[in-house]
Amino acid sequence: MSEVRTLKVALLGCGNVGAQVARILIDDAEALAARSGARLELSGIAVRNIDSPRDVELPRELFTTDADTLVKDADLVIELMGGIEPARSLILTAIQNGACVVTGNKALLAQDGPTLYEEADKAGVQLSYEAAVAGAIPILRPIRDSLSGDRITRVLGIVNGTTNFILDQMDSTGAQFADALAEAQRLGYAEADPTADVEGHDAAAKAAILASLSFHTRFSLDDVYCEGITKVSAEDIASAKEAGFVIKLLAIAEKIGSSDNGSGISVRVHPTLLPREHPLAAVRGAFNAVFIEAENAGELMFYGQGAGGTPTASAVLGDLVSAARRLVLGGPGRTETTTGHVPALAIDASNTSYYIGLDVADQAGVLARIAHIFAENGVSIEIMRQTIHRDSASNVESAELKIVTHRASEAALAATVEAVKGLDVINSVTSVLRVEGV
Ligand code: NAP
Repeated sequence: MSEVRTLKVALLGCGNVGAQVARILIDDAEALAARSGARLELSGIAVRNIDSPRDVELPRELFTTDADTLVKDADLVIELMGGIEPARSLILTAIQNGACVVTGNKALLAQDGPTLYEEADKAGVQLSYEAAVAGAIPILRPIRDSLSGDRITRVLGIVNGTTNFILDQMDSTGAQFADALAEAQRLGYAEADPTADVEGHDAAAKAAILASLSFHTRFSLDDVYCEGITKVSAEDIASAKEAGFVIKLLAIAEKIGSSDNGSGISVRVHPTLLPREHPLAAVRGAFNAVFIEAENAGELMFYGQGAGGTPTASAVLGDLVSAARRLVLGGPGRTETTTGHVPALAIDASNTSYYIGLDVADQAGVLARIAHIFAENGVSIEIMRQTIHRDSASNVESAELKIVTHRASEAALAATVEAVKGLDVINSVTSVLRVEGV
């Protein structure tokens, strides 16, 4: 019987995710060997400071601060340091030395993924990154492999647990954004500096990755329109709720147009109204989910934990076993295809329904004047609801108008809102939010 091969695994980083990956590699060594066909030997763990406290007790002799030397002597490299440098250079060194690489570094992939993918292709090694989007949820491999015989038309993802927790908290308690953020920070769902999450940057990096795999074209962060949740108010949430919607921060990648009229891909992240019966509306707390529409498969939804050391480690180890199998069997790995060559479209080209909240004077003929402006700009109204408020002190009546439109272009909507603002009967435009799933 031939001897089982041993593959050296270098781990870069031993934080939230890295420590759990190291633990599983050691504790489940036998099962991992049986599944991959090779013994996966953790040859070392590179960190900044060997003496930092760790979540998991690990043999001290595994630790090093010399990541470069560790990488050069590995068959498989797991990068879980985060950030751009030195992660980028170490991954390139690993690839040039013929090692397969597993990473969870969405920031690096969104910024410089194409360089890394090209280098991996040239070297004939596998670069896998399932953990980079939606943590534990197996989503990239299903898009890349399982759906490779289909045509994806649209991807809608709740891919940032922090913002989903905040919006869910606002929806269930009526809290304002700042209070819900403070609660998320107290519970450890949001970082002390929450910018990357609440401004949508983290979701935008994941949107670029999802769009690239779904539409077989490399999209970068520059192709993603990005709007975070900092401007979503308790009033927006309450009036959306009253109209039967929930507000979610969605990462959206969708095909717009047809080959006859110049099609392209709109990749965007923004707060979005979803009907409360839409499957994504049921995604509560810090959970993630990705909803895919494909020509033949129809609608698919993937749901689970989008972050956390142990859940994310599950995705990393799945990639590692797959890369090890490839090294055992030989032959080129299965990488994504980039034969789509579809352009990324600017936000103006996107076509969606809108929710518009208006504070208007309660006068005869107001509704007709507003409806006329919508019609003039080619935006058709699906729902229009009016609620009358009386200010008890001044005894002045005003009306709150909630309008949901049929699909319209961003440009038509912007022109409509500008024209409506100019009417003397409009006190203010209280909300303009995009709607999906209607
Ligand atoms: P983390 O807790 O901050 O850990 C980072 C680790 O990398 C630490 O062990 C640190 O060493 C080490 N490190 C950082 N810079 C280094 C350098 N220049 N040289 C050597 N070692 C260095 O990070 P994490 O939360 O585990 O995340 C790791 C990666 O996974 C990131 O790319 C992140 O985006 C991605 N990810 C994380 C999650 C999650 O739930 N946390 C989910 C999906 C994807 P010291 O310990 O000595 O400081």
